[in-house]
Amino acid sequence: MTRVLVTGASGFIAKHIVLQLLQAGHTVVGSVRSAKRQAEVRTAVAAHLEGDDWQNRLFFASLDLNADTGWKDAMENVDVLMHTASPFPISQPKNEDELIRPAVDGTLRALRAAKENGINRVILTSSAVAVMQSNLPTDKLAHDETDWSDLNHPTINAYGRSKTLAERAAWDFVQSDAPEMNLTTINPVLVLGPPLDANFGSSVSVVERVLKAKDSALPKFGLPIVDVRDVATMHLKALEMPDETRGMRFLASNGYVWFADIAKTLKTAYPNRKIVTRLAPNAFVRFLALFDKDIRTIIPQLGFAPKVSNDRARSIMGINFIPPRDAILAAAEVILRTGKVK
Ligand code: NDP
Repeated sequence: MTRVLVTGASGFIAKHIVLQLLQAGHTVVGSVRSAKRQAEVRTAVAAHLEGDDWQNRLFFASLDLNADTGWKDAMENVDVLMHTASPFPISQPKNEDELIRPAVDGTLRALRAAKENGINRVILTSSAVAVMQSNLPTDKLAHDETDWSDLNHPTINAYGRSKTLAERAAWDFVQSDAPEMNLTTINPVLVLGPPLDANFGSSVSVVERVLKAKDSALPKFGLPIVDVRDVATMHLKALEMPDETRGMRFLASNGYVWFADIAKTLKTAYPNRKIVTRLAPNAFVRFLALFDKDIRTIIPQLGFAPKVSNDRARSIMGINFIPPRDAILAAAEVILRTGKVK
């Protein structure tokens, strides 16, 4: 069976990847920044695995995207690199380099180490923000894998730049330094679905925010959604289909959902909770944007639902995407069960 190094194994998406790899019988080396989080990853996947055999197929390494230490040892006997680690904060830092440097330098560090250790198969977790922050030509109805984000687009933020630059760096590295390397990228939109524990990342906090009724009204804004289980499955499909997916990007998306519809879905499922479903007038949101730079980035998209194609993932990988409603409700169920929201 294949030995796979999964960087950022403590992440929301990576825990699902580790789980599916173990379920499929592979051996996993999960990299964490802090050794303290090894037990967390083990516990998160244990609840979904039968028998004990997997315990002997899960190993850990300590790796930081900003440091060279440990990469060579972590890659020993590894067949495939799945590079998921990248900073994904809820709010954007004042200094963009806090995101851009670990994302870009970390990706190049991982790819260089892979090349030095003879690992030619790399699956990179990029993002739809490396695809969608660009204006569509008028003859095109939906973004697809041929699109690249414009680093100066009004909707792009530091995180979007970090992911766009990191993915570009990966493709450039393969082209110029490692033509033998077989690279595939998975580019998810907003990832929801059930976290494997209470340490979920930024994306699920969208559902947490609605469950906490934090906002008195919701902007006419939303995002395309995909379920974390499908995102993990796409990483495994890429592993199983190296020839069919070589040199390709794969958008992971299953349709646009307005925040107000997320709220209505949750209100229907939890009728006794206080959940705000009313819409804020666009003029009011524009006023708030004068004072809040996070709100400012959504202004160009107010009332506008960009379309993203998932044709490639369906036709080549055979993904039958989980409906957004299930992804929303599965996220909410874990958030409430783990006590993250009372
Ligand atoms: P998480 O924040 O849950 O996971 C991010 C992982 O990256 C964590 O394991 C984190 O480690 C690790 N990491 C961050 N900075 C460093 C660093 N300097 N050195 C080593 N490790 C680091 O996010 P997700 O699981 O949601 O995201 C995983 C990947 O998927 C990222 O590349 C993200 O950009 C991408 N993605 C996510 C989407 C989403 O909606 N969730 C959508 C599109 C793409 P630690 O636990 O120590 O902080």
